[in-house]
Amino acid sequence: MTMERIYNFSAGPAILPQDVLEQARDEMLNWQGCGMSVMEMSHRGKEFMAIAAQAESDLRELLHIPAHYKVLFLQGGASSQFAMVPMNLLRGKKSADYVNTGEWSKKAIKEAKKYTSVNVAASSEDANFSYAPSQDKWKLDADAAYVHFTPNETIGGVEFNWVPDTGAVPLVADMSSTILSRPLDIAKYGLIYAGAQKNIGPAGLTIVIVRDDLIGETLPGTPTMLDYKIHADNESMYNTPPTYGIYVAGLVFKWLKRMGGLEAMEKHNIEKAALLYDCLDKSSFYHCPTARADRSRMNVPFTLKDAALDEEFLKQAKALGLVQLKGHRSVGGMRASIYNAMPMDGVRALAGFMQEFEKAHA
Ligand SMILES: *Cc1c(COP(=O)(O)O)cnc(C)c1O
Repeated sequence: MTMERIYNFSAGPAILPQDVLEQARDEMLNWQGCGMSVMEMSHRGKEFMAIAAQAESDLRELLHIPAHYKVLFLQGGASSQFAMVPMNLLRGKKSADYVNTGEWSKKAIKEAKKYTSVNVAASSEDANFSYAPSQDKWKLDADAAYVHFTPNETIGGVEFNWVPDTGAVPLVADMSSTILSRPLDIAKYGLIYAGAQKNIGPAGLTIVIVRDDLIGETLPGTPTMLDYKIHADNESMYNTPPTYGIYVAGLVFKWLKRMGGLEAMEKHNIEKAALLYDCLDKSSFYHCPTARADRSRMNVPFTLKDAALDEEFLKQAKALGLVQLKGHRSVGGMRASIYNAMPMDGVRALAGFMQEFEKAHA
């Protein structure tokens, strides 16, 4: 007897495609006739090596990753990348440029300051992190080791719809909540990282895509486990990688390919986001705090006219199977995360509920 599935709008760990969960269930005890679960496999055995190689190859195909970029399957979450990026990419330089667009940028900046001098090249703090500063406002330093930005601020719901041009200085992007939601031109970046639990797979896996000439020169004292080159040279098998996470991510990559790849996914995501933002814009009961041009397709924050209704809204939504809509504790209100795996039906159900709730309470 299976319980009916709810629509999970959590920002992360987040909804996964039902097809993927079903396949993982079917293969749980006996992966493709080998008589064991993927969780029980040696990471150096031929079965798991094939799973990992296939996952990497499908990710490379989806993102058209050029051959001179390494794909690393790591642990430690995106938060560990806040330190690993400066430890690995400073390469003798004295400072790094950061763009401050919200909670995740702030954390990245705070961590980087332990290792280097940080130049905040642009910030949207002046308007409560509600927009993406345009490139003409960025004060870049040509001698910076790299430029770090957060293409999608998961908490504030602000997304860059353009790729910054940083010339010869490598561009580094925390893509935790936007990777695989649209096509990417990897060649424009020096390094991309993402925690898996938003748009890739289960928590515990972190993906790094890095241009190979940028690695191999770490800060003195960098732990072996935090050295990209060690992981690159050992094909992410220097130690035991997060095997089950890599397996499920691989199933997600296959699902994305079946769905038509990232062009199709982008179209789908644009349609879902448009439905929700239209619902917000037509209403005087709901308010979306983000600048129109920079609205995230993945995380949609909104407030109710009267915050005293928040609890009732969440309660009624939950009764309809629409869950995890409470906004982040730092901003309040609501947030609907509508990653790749959220079907259009889920967004329609949410928009329908919101209209009914407005009618009853306006
Ligand atoms: C969730 C998130 C993080 C933190 O990820 P962890 O894997 O929990 O460390 C960092 N950056 C962004 C943009 C995120 O959405």
